[in-house]
Amino acid sequence: MTITDEAIAFEHEHCAHNYHPLPVVISEAEGAWVTDIEGRRYLDMLSAYSAINFGHGHPDLVKAVEDQLRRVTLTSRAFHNDQLGRFCAALARLARHEAVLPMNSGAEGVETALKVARKWGYQVKGVAHDRAQIVVCEGNFHGRTTTIVSFSDDPSARDDYGPYTPGFVTVPFGDIDALRAAITDDTVAFLVEPIQGEAGVVLPPTGYLEAVRELCTERGVLMIADEIQAGMGRAGATFACDLVGVQPDIRILGKALGGGILPVSAVTADWSVLGVIRPGEHGSTFGGNPLAAAVGIKVCELMETGVLQERSKRLGEHVLRTLRGAELPGIKEIRGSGLWWAVELDGTGRTGREVSLELLARGILAKDTHTWTIRFAPPLVVGEADLDAALTTIIEVLAEDVADTGP
Ligand SMILES: *Cc1c(COP(=O)(O)O)cnc(C)c1O
Repeated sequence: MTITDEAIAFEHEHCAHNYHPLPVVISEAEGAWVTDIEGRRYLDMLSAYSAINFGHGHPDLVKAVEDQLRRVTLTSRAFHNDQLGRFCAALARLARHEAVLPMNSGAEGVETALKVARKWGYQVKGVAHDRAQIVVCEGNFHGRTTTIVSFSDDPSARDDYGPYTPGFVTVPFGDIDALRAAITDDTVAFLVEPIQGEAGVVLPPTGYLEAVRELCTERGVLMIADEIQAGMGRAGATFACDLVGVQPDIRILGKALGGGILPVSAVTADWSVLGVIRPGEHGSTFGGNPLAAAVGIKVCELMETGVLQERSKRLGEHVLRTLRGAELPGIKEIRGSGLWWAVELDGTGRTGREVSLELLARGILAKDTHTWTIRFAPPLVVGEADLDAALTTIIEVLAEDVADTGP
């Protein structure tokens, strides 16, 4: 038994089996690279599902956290702290909204947006008590709370967690006519990932988000963009909605907002929407804590320069050109936006997990989603030579499929 096998068996004995990780035990990381307990190095091409956009241990983020660690880490919202206002101001500016409600995990951010939308529906739109409906998309992923899994259509996320929260209606992602038909006088919001991450980096058809924006405005429905995975430079712009010039009524952010160091999430909106929440009506002990706020401020500063967004866009285009140009067999589709792409296998050869294991053996960390798709999301700071070397390896591994299964 290797020390990796031992470490995995030990974890398996004591930690709930709610994940099925690839067999690598990471002990250190820097930039786009991680090192396992046997000293092997890997290029991180998952970035903790896009939470590590700035790379592991970004010096500015580490410094912001270290400085704040020595000052004060947690006050609760029973008192003010000197970081929260600065964080909310910086994030509101980045999001082009007036106000911010800070939380911790992404799922809490989504829950916050749902609560805000319902309250807005009753208090501003005038929907009858307990009648509010929120439209969501097929193939969505918004987190793991009981309410959020209530409107998931992934059986493994949803089954046996009922009774489910009512008030949600599902339409196909990318289908504007279905959305139009689903909206009633009781509809308060449409919750959408501008690019569906967990579903396998699924992009909407051209013009969809613009049409959603228009329809929501016309019908008095809040457009809620869940940019927890797509945002903060990942898709080639600060927010994926920016790629098509759409400003949602509510933005939900998480993952990279905490710089890959702390769980930091937030909802951004204008006062006409966020103003419905008054003291005591929503909150979180850790939400808006000064340590999280300090890292969030620095994350906003890194985004303000636009350097990483430009890199994401430029290198992402290069990746798609390179992978598509390789004309690999056994592949149904290669799609992406920014440094965020997916390879969907055609289902005749190896599974996404088998390919991910082969990539792991060659020093690349990536993860399958929904059996036949492999998702890639390297840190936005990945070196160009490292990225090119990885692309060569990915192409080699994908090309092998046919060599192995051919006549
Ligand atoms: C990851 C994710 C979430 C949930 O975030 P957690 O921090 O895991 O709770 C919600 N929405 C999207 C789009 C995500 O990718």
